[in-house]
Amino acid sequence: MENHRSVSRRIILFPLPFQGHISPMLQLANILHTRGFKITIMHTEYNSPNHTNYPHFTFKPIKDGFSEIADKVHGTPDPTYFLKYLNKSCVDPFRECLAKLLAEPGEERVACVITDAGFYFAQTVADELKLPRIALRTGSIGCTLAYDALPFYSKEACFKLTKQDSDYEASVPEYPLLKFKDIVKITTNPQGMETILTNMLNQMKASSGIIWNTFKELEESALETISQDLRVPSFTLGPFHKYFPASSSSLIEQDRTILSWLDKQLPNSVVYVSFGSATCITKSEFQELAHGLANISLPFLWVVRPGMVVGAEWLESLPEEFLERVADRGRIVKWSPQPEVLAHPATGCFWTHNGWNSTLESICEGVPMICSPCFVDQPINARYVSDVWKIGMLLEDGFKRLGIEKVIKQVMKDKEGEEMRDRIGYLKEKVNLSIVEGGSSCRSLNNLVSYILSF
Ligand code: UDP
Repeated sequence: MENHRSVSRRIILFPLPFQGHISPMLQLANILHTRGFKITIMHTEYNSPNHTNYPHFTFKPIKDGFSEIADKVHGTPDPTYFLKYLNKSCVDPFRECLAKLLAEPGEERVACVITDAGFYFAQTVADELKLPRIALRTGSIGCTLAYDALPFYSKEACFKLTKQDSDYEASVPEYPLLKFKDIVKITTNPQGMETILTNMLNQMKASSGIIWNTFKELEESALETISQDLRVPSFTLGPFHKYFPASSSSLIEQDRTILSWLDKQLPNSVVYVSFGSATCITKSEFQELAHGLANISLPFLWVVRPGMVVGAEWLESLPEEFLERVADRGRIVKWSPQPEVLAHPATGCFWTHNGWNSTLESICEGVPMICSPCFVDQPINARYVSDVWKIGMLLEDGFKRLGIEKVIKQVMKDKEGEEMRDRIGYLKEKVNLSIVEGGSSCRSLNNLVSYILSF
């Protein structure tokens, strides 16, 4: 078959240095490697991927000067500041490294560079060096459409509404799926966000194409709209992690001991709780969450990242006697093998921050969600989950023990939860069909491979 032929071309990939961006880029690199491409991963020194997990790739670290600022942040970071910084500090090292790679004598020609869409500076450098650049957008298409529509700059005040404002619960006219109470969570810095998004979208439009970690059946109408808006080829070949279920690109060590604990639990009985790699919560939110979990009569697995609770190292702020109360019914870990936890038959629901990777992983395993979005794309993903696909329920009004108990019961025990499980089970089947020969993601991958070979 044409697309499976061994090709003597190299692709250079450059991920943003955050867990939710590194994982899909490395998964994509693995997918392209199986299609015969040689792979070079250019990466920042900050959050370097573990080279030993990928003996089949070549790695090129570049200096970014980022550790100094990233390590000083306590609490949930401001992504606009981080992105602005990286889009400046990486320009020269990226250009120098890319130019060197292009000049290297080697058997295979460099076909293109694939960078995270958030590295918008890379388009100009790629143009200077006359190398096609493809952008990998690690978020959903729906989220990118919302970003494009929201009036970040022109109506800055609406990002500052509070519960007391009459519009707080109303729909946003520019993107009626969202309410004002959702968009206030997206950013505390609307001007900075507008600058970043304008740059990102303009450079996506200037790129040779966009790869999305999503699948057509999930976002069909959004895909049509974005293709008309951006006017460059779009490739929806996700969910990437389903191509290599066993491989992990985790930056943190995963606690695998909990898999044997899960083996002892009843099917669909466990509430899995994790808020990803960057979200932070306050001590009082943490305590309400703990009370909520202690008060339900269900087993739970809770990921508490060290540093996740503002001002605490790890579990110091747990309510008194929490551990005695829950005993073997609950497990707390620092980091889990999440895709495997979600695929485990015991996992009954996923209480998530709705990062896009977590959302997709839940869809892939047919696990309904409880949504507690924190910032950037998460409130948008959460609306799609609860109001469009109807495969999860938003925990409205923050972390309060009574609300937590109620929503867990709704998703785990009530009829509406059962209906969500049916709907997400149907999507799981669609995912499985999309990545096999003839499926939409597989076809899109074939198209991408042919497209890259045409450069
Ligand atoms: N993850 C994990 N173990 C955990 C929590 C999260 O391996 O205990 C992984 C998860 O599978 C996902 C990624 O970390 O692939 C988080 O990405 P996401 O986009 O959901 O959120 P972010 O961390 O970017 O906020």
